[in-house]
Amino acid sequence: MNFVSTRGNVSKIGFIDTVLMGLANDGGLLVPEKIPQIPAEKLDAMSNLTYQELAYEIFSYYVDGEIPEKELKELIEKSYAAFRHPEVTPVQKLKDNMYVLELFHGPTFAFKDIALQFLGNLYSYVSKKTGESIHILGATSGDTGASAIEGVRGKEGIRICILHPHGKVSKVQELQMTTVDDKSVLNLAIKGTFDDGQRIIKELFADVDFKNKYHMRAINSINFVRIMAQTVYYFYSYFQVTKEADVKTVNFSVPTGNFGDIFAGYLAKKMGLPIGKLIVATNENNILEDFIHDGVYKPGEFRSTFSPSMDIQVASNFERYLFYLLEEDPKAVSEVMEKFNSEGKIVVSKELLHKVQEDFAAYGVKGEECLQTISTYNLETSYLLDPHTACGVAAYEKCNAPSEICVTLATAHPAKFNESIERCDIQQTFPEQISQLSNKPQYLEVVEADKAEVVRHLEKLFSFTAK
Ligand SMILES: *Cc1c(COP(=O)(O)O)cnc(C)c1O
Repeated sequence: MNFVSTRGNVSKIGFIDTVLMGLANDGGLLVPEKIPQIPAEKLDAMSNLTYQELAYEIFSYYVDGEIPEKELKELIEKSYAAFRHPEVTPVQKLKDNMYVLELFHGPTFAFKDIALQFLGNLYSYVSKKTGESIHILGATSGDTGASAIEGVRGKEGIRICILHPHGKVSKVQELQMTTVDDKSVLNLAIKGTFDDGQRIIKELFADVDFKNKYHMRAINSINFVRIMAQTVYYFYSYFQVTKEADVKTVNFSVPTGNFGDIFAGYLAKKMGLPIGKLIVATNENNILEDFIHDGVYKPGEFRSTFSPSMDIQVASNFERYLFYLLEEDPKAVSEVMEKFNSEGKIVVSKELLHKVQEDFAAYGVKGEECLQTISTYNLETSYLLDPHTACGVAAYEKCNAPSEICVTLATAHPAKFNESIERCDIQQTFPEQISQLSNKPQYLEVVEADKAEVVRHLEKLFSFTAK
């Protein structure tokens, strides 16, 4: 299995090099040269596997022997042993044609743990093999930071710096990231938005000399491993639901920010999983909704919402999708991205828009509607949705036909977003791991959203030598 850049200017590389490169050195994103095809008989055979066994089967297509079987299995076992549910990602039926896929049973109560527990263990494995230190740099809208820190803390040879938008994450998200007392963890609270943080890290990763000098590694969904690990639960939930419901295809409604999670669904579909519609659920930061309706992708003004992890305007992974939309033509992708950088928007033709709409539906959920959905479901089904999942559920209500079955991805536990839950006049009980956070001291530095200032802090972190 080889990986190539969406912009075509990186020579083919294997799985481990893809993990380490993160952002492609030409500024594009890495994708598999050929998407593995899983035939229907193989899918049938996979349908009774445990989550871990399924992860092994799917990862094997991409890892392609670069990690010996026994070691890959151990990495997977270790990663998912940290989850509180034996099924890792169980599905719950809320209505006749509607399920939620609970992705929040990991250590930080959001779906990011599914990929980042594995990526943390993988980095540690690679560091041990090569003797190289791993320096992680990431930007977060709230959940990735906590999850990445949890995935690597205490692991030898790894240091991590996370940029989060100061004052724009939930209290629990902030506490999860900043209460880790560890010299190899640095939290920078930048005075700006997630998009500012993401822009800074993308600029730093695009500086190949800097990246190599400091062994800088990515944990954001620019890293293909994130996408790969997230395809597994599409397969897993599809198998669970089709055992119960007599259907061949299943729709998925996906709360979307950076287009990472939903791209994983698109990849699963391209691998052969019979997915019907992929429903892009956004909040008021709804450029992806606009794109799917009109073919115009144009970042607008940033808005703070009840679902802060989706408060993103520039969706990094969108470029991966463009690559497939433009028939895997890296020249065409480069042209479109250049135009995007100079003109601030992407416009696709009617024919291409038609193609987009064959795979995707979209709905942007307004704040009031998000809260209303939480209240209604709490009353009617006694199930407490977190505000991101509520966007997914509201989009399911809008975009799913009554005869179709839909799985909505429950991307976080409601306890992480009590600010929004309280507005619905709902009192929730907190898991012990969350309620104990408020007693701990916090470690963070507030900085300007400025590349040079971030670099100064990074150099300090990287020059510190662990004993
Ligand atoms: C990150 C996140 C999302 C958005 O996922 P993307 O892969 O960025 O589209 C949605 N919900 C929650 C709770 C998240 O943490």
